Parts: sequence; structure tokens; C-alpha cells
Amino acid sequence: MNLKQGLLILVVGCLVPAAVMAQAPSTAQTAKGPVLLPGEGLAVGMKDSQAFYGVAEQEFPMGALAELVWLRTEGEEWAVRDLRYKCTGELAGAFCGKRDGHGKVDIAKAMQSGCDLAFLAWSRWSMQRWEQESGEGSARVRLEEAFRPFLGRRMPSGDGPLALDLQWVGTGQLLRTSPKAMLQWLMDPLNEGFNEQAMRFLRPVGGLFSKQGVDWWMKTGTVPTPNEPGAASAWVAGSDGFRYAVLHLPKSHGQAEDLARFKALMEIKK
Ligand SMILES: [Zn+2]
Repeated sequence: MNLKQGLLILVVGCLVPAAVMAQAPSTAQTAKGPVLLPGEGLAVGMKDSQAFYGVAEQEFPMGALAELVWLRTEGEEWAVRDLRYKCTGELAGAFCGKRDGHGKVDIAKAMQSGCDLAFLAWSRWSMQRWEQESGEGSARVRLEEAFRPFLGRRMPSGDGPLALDLQWVGTGQLLRTSPKAMLQWLMDPLNEGFNEQAMRFLRPVGGLFSKQGVDWWMKTGTVPTPNEPGAASAWVAGSDGFRYAVLHLPKSHGQAEDLARFKALMEIKK
């Protein structure tokens, strides 16, 4: 090796870490950032910065995170009318995640327990209202607008009224997101005010305070793993109004454990 080659190797050797450094997350969390387990993905954002760890850009079915989109889109209307629902576990052939039903739920309880049927009933009601308010076909347009970041090219075709099924509240493959995409939706300036709604309906899920005394809202969801009875992956999204985070876990260990993992990674203390 002559001197020139040696220098070249030295320069390249220095450039590679520099390039990696340039992409390194700038977050105020910890100097190193959170340490993830294999398969986990985490997106963390603050006002001017976003950071991504692990499997943060891969899309998965969004599960109950779809309820956040409904909350953003129709939460105010539903809250003004104080909508309630009695979940028996089945609604005209559609089944709730909890087969024996959630019983009587209001918006907060439906959000916290992930009652698919309450969201299905309320979103159908919203669709009808949109059609009445803005004319035939308008509901489809509003629905597509609200869910655009999660639809890809999967918007069902047609012009007429759309019969909403459980896919529109997060079941199946229709609505998909990644930790990164979900974080960016949460932090979209168009969604200003969403945090207050989420805090109002979801704060008891976290039920804890960070060491700075700041409340977090947290939303959990699970997605059944194909061909693996009883197994599921998990989502946890949350914010304290300053920090936002979206976590995807390849395997759910139940809501309490999934929340505990989120809190550990975000360093949220009791
Ligand atoms: Zn239910």
C-alpha cells in the first residue's frame, strides 16, 4: 500500500462515521437514545426534531391507532352529542375485539378499551351526517381526506356512499402506518388541538405522571399475528404536549406490559 492509498482508506474510514453521525437523532432524551430490542420500532419527536430507532419506517396495520384519526376528525362532534354505545360483542355480523362485549361505553371508555363496535357505530353515524350536510358522495371525500396518510392506494373505488366496515376502525390491512408516519401525523400542524382531545379522553390509560409532573396521554392497540393464534403485535402512541412518541412492538405482552415498555423507553416515571 502506498501513501496515497493509505490516506484514502484513512479518509473513507473517517467519512463513514461522519455520515452516520450526520443522521444521528438529535433528541434531548439521552445521549445514546433508547436501546431497542430486535424488531421494535420507535419514533420520537419534539418541536423541531424527530428521531427514529429500530424498525421505525416499516408499515404495519395500524389497529386501534385508527381511533385517533376518528377522534381528530369527529371527536368534537361526538363529544358535543355525548355519544354512547352498548357493545354486546356483535353488530350485524361484525365482531368486537372483546367477544363478550364492552357493555355501555362513552367516548373515553371506548378509546381506552379499544371498543371497535362503538367506533364503527359512531363513524357510520358521522358518514350519514356528512352526506346530509354536504350532499351525496361528500362522505367518501371526507373519509379519504382524513385517512389519506394511512390508505396508500387502497381507497375502495366507486362513487356512491361507502358502507363502513371494521377495516375503517383499524381491523385488517386497509389502514397501515409506521412509527415514523404516525409520529408525523401526530405532529402535523393541521392536527393542532388534537393533543387536548387526546388528553381529555386518554389520559387515564397512562394513569401516571412523568417526573416533571407532566401528564401523558397514551393509546394502545394490538394487531393479531397471521397464522399464530393468540399472538399479536402492539402499538403505543402518546404525548405530553411537548414530546410525541410512537412505538411498535413485534409481540404484545398485554396492555399493561406494552405501556410499561413505552414508559421505560420514554423515561416516564411514576
Ligand atoms: Zn366492544
